[in-house]
Amino acid sequence: MKAAIYDYAKPSGCSDAIALVTPSEGMAKFVSGSQSLGPMMNLRLAQPDMLVDLRGIAALRECRHEGDHALLGAAITHAAIEDGKIDDATRGLMQHVARGIAYRAVRNRGTLGGSLAHADPAADWINTMCALDAEFLVTGPDGARTVAAGDWMIGAFTTALDADEILTGVRFRRLSPTARWGYYKVNRKPGEFADAIGVCIDDAQAGVCRAVIGAIDGPPHAIVNARELIDDANPARLDPHLLAAGLEPMSYEYQVHRVALQRAIAIVREYSRNPN
Ligand SMILES: Cc1cc2nc3c(=O)[nH]c(=O)nc-3n(C[C@H](O)[C@H](O)[C@H](O)COP(=O)(O)OP(=O)(O)OC[C@H]3O[C@@H](n4cnc5c(N)ncnc54)[C@H](O)[C@@H]3O)c2cc1C
Repeated sequence: MKAAIYDYAKPSGCSDAIALVTPSEGMAKFVSGSQSLGPMMNLRLAQPDMLVDLRGIAALRECRHEGDHALLGAAITHAAIEDGKIDDATRGLMQHVARGIAYRAVRNRGTLGGSLAHADPAADWINTMCALDAEFLVTGPDGARTVAAGDWMIGAFTTALDADEILTGVRFRRLSPTARWGYYKVNRKPGEFADAIGVCIDDAQAGVCRAVIGAIDGPPHAIVNARELIDDANPARLDPHLLAAGLEPMSYEYQVHRVALQRAIAIVREYSRNPN
């Protein structure tokens, strides 16, 4: 199938883009890499009257420091991160994650912001940004606002973003030089969406030790203090967290998420034993 007929605009600024998506003007949608929206339009699951292409907005491709924080623009592609074209604020975590997304043609076009706005629970960035405790930067007709990582995703494919708001980027604390991370994605073939994602970040210098159970039915489940899970390798320690994430005990989902989390933590533990 092909997409239904739609109008197209490629503005060069956020305010022009927002003005084009006024709800009263019919159903217009922002588009970035079109790697999620495009297939939905071809299947006629989405039929916007107009696409407002955000790729003409240079500010959305920016990457900069703000004190000990990094700010990454929403239109940065997975490929730019994979290729190390973006300043590495995460000691290689984001580069590792980008490399595991789909295949190169998708990564060339797909964007960080598009993925976060799409909010597929099984996608990689939504879980990574939760682990980094990122703030989501949003701008709309009423100005700019920030949304905390825990408030971003309301449910599968649903975020705190209004239809006429643009996700302009994310801001998170840069990982310290001694920080350790583990990212473990369970999928049937490399580059596919995940059956389960486990993430663990241990940044003692910044007082952060966080883990995430990802690719569950709804928003990622954050474990704000994962220290005891790193210090004590007893897998039974994971159970209360898996239950709190809403996983049914001993189901396939439970077991696969347990493996993902256990391995992400084991990577961090191994780093701590062998720092070099
Ligand atoms: C074959 C295939 C395999 C894939 N495998 C994986 C995978 O393993 N892991 C993974 O994480 N992802 C995977 N993806 C998804 C891919 O990463 C997409 O790039 C991503 O989900 C969407 O990014 P996009 O820039 O293409 O967004 P688009 O498709 O352009 O937009 C997606 C949605 O977000 C909205 N939107 C886009 N940008 C903004 C913005 N800045 N502000 C507000 N709203 C916005 C759009 O209106 C739309 O609703 C796969 C995709 C394909 C086609």
